[in-house]
Amino acid sequence: IWQVALSDLETRVSRANYETWLRNTELISFEDDCATIGAPNSFAVEQLRSKFAAPIQETLSLITGRPVAVQFAVLNSDRPALHPTPRRQARRTAVAELEAPPTPSSRQLELTVTPEHGLNPRYTFEKFVVGANNRLAHAAAMAVADRPADKFNPLFIYGGVGLGKTHLLHAIGHRALARRPQLKVRYVSSETFTNDLIHAIRQQRTDEFRNRYRTIDILMIDDIQFIAGKESTQEEFFHTFNALYQAGKQIVISSDRPPKAIHNLADRLRSRFEGGLLADIQAPDLETRQAILAEKGRELGVRVPDDVLEYVARKIESNIRELEGALNRIVALAQLYHRSITLDLAVEALTDSHAEARRQQLTPEAVIDAVSQQYRVTVPELVGPARRRDVVVPRQVAMYLMREELGLSLVEIGQRLGGRDHTTVLHGIEKIEQQLQNDGQLRGEVLAVRERLYGG
Ligand code: ADP
Ligand code: MG
Repeated sequence: IWQVALSDLETRVSRANYETWLRNTELISFEDDCATIGAPNSFAVEQLRSKFAAPIQETLSLITGRPVAVQFAVLNSDRPALHPTPRRQARRTAVAELEAPPTPSSRQLELTVTPEHGLNPRYTFEKFVVGANNRLAHAAAMAVADRPADKFNPLFIYGGVGLGKTHLLHAIGHRALARRPQLKVRYVSSETFTNDLIHAIRQQRTDEFRNRYRTIDILMIDDIQFIAGKESTQEEFFHTFNALYQAGKQIVISSDRPPKAIHNLADRLRSRFEGGLLADIQAPDLETRQAILAEKGRELGVRVPDDVLEYVARKIESNIRELEGALNRIVALAQLYHRSITLDLAVEALTDSHAEARRQQLTPEAVIDAVSQQYRVTVPELVGPARRRDVVVPRQVAMYLMREELGLSLVEIGQRLGGRDHTTVLHGIEKIEQQLQNDGQLRGEVLAVRERLYGG
């Protein structure tokens, strides 16, 4: 991933800057959407932190399709940057070597997540812009935060990618806690929920699992569509749902589509979901997009002229995450070159988004094809049952790349590869991640597949 990021960065910063500061960097770790970048000495670390944190963060977010936090550390010269195993330990070492906390300006673009509730401090109601597209979902979310389990239980929020579902879920948690700090609030992705469950089953601790979830006052489960097709998870979720519901606890669910459009969802769950309030979020209109951009500008602490707001809002119509990414790119460019934010600069910043354009054309099929060509394995073999090493490794590479490049869920990846189980996919991805740390040949192969995908 870092190779690809570097080649993107190379096109974004001046040649001199790239050669001096970026060429000799390495990726020390990348976990939980947090990248630790290593540089040879503390001076370089300082430069990276003050000048390049924003573009690096942005590039990585573009590549992974998720918000990514970035930190920097000094590389230890007698230790290879990508230390083999154990990964946890490598990370701890790296973090211990971190210098003083980043300056406010580079921090502003970072994402920090508080683990206990799983709430991201950036996602509050104060920072959520209300428009015709999300008015109902917003009002319902406020009501639920103020009076949990009163009227709308469950609250089911659905809408397309990047339209603010996750933001609203977190906002509910923040507001509820601000009013009643003793509440037990928990935000989980449906993948975390599933993983917790699988773990509990393996350790024969399902009772503990149930108790843990059932004592929560407000449970928010994000992207519930991912549990479709998983029978035991749905089964357990059904029981958890009923227990919470009967105990008068609030449940909030998000999905990319309404319950009736989620295939492979158990009927009884579907009817539970439909028994509460369904609130959709639509794509925002031009004025709302402009208002959102203005809000994001305030959060970044920059003044963005109206013509720039309008230009960006007109150019990017559907996805707020992309809208935000575009603004970040403009702000980063302005900071990088000490220029002020003007329409010219905005046009310049946004016409250079080849990486984004290429990303959007990337499909799971393209990844499978590229892997098949690179390893000279046929597609039927890749999605078939073969367990020979010369098929297994390419298959795992395909899993890894679908995750890294497309941000697909483990379930979706499994489906693309002939209906494999999500734990198999997780295992495959972890295997590749681990091996990439010390296997030069594999690294070369993965890079070659990426070159096929991105046209070199
Ligand atoms: P989803 O979960 O629907 O895919 P997110 O909640 O992750 O979308 O939103 C994507 C980005 O857009 C986030 O950074 C979020 O803060 C921002 N965003 C979405 N809707 C709004 C809004 N109405 N006001 C302000 N920011 C928003
Ligand atoms: Mg989301």
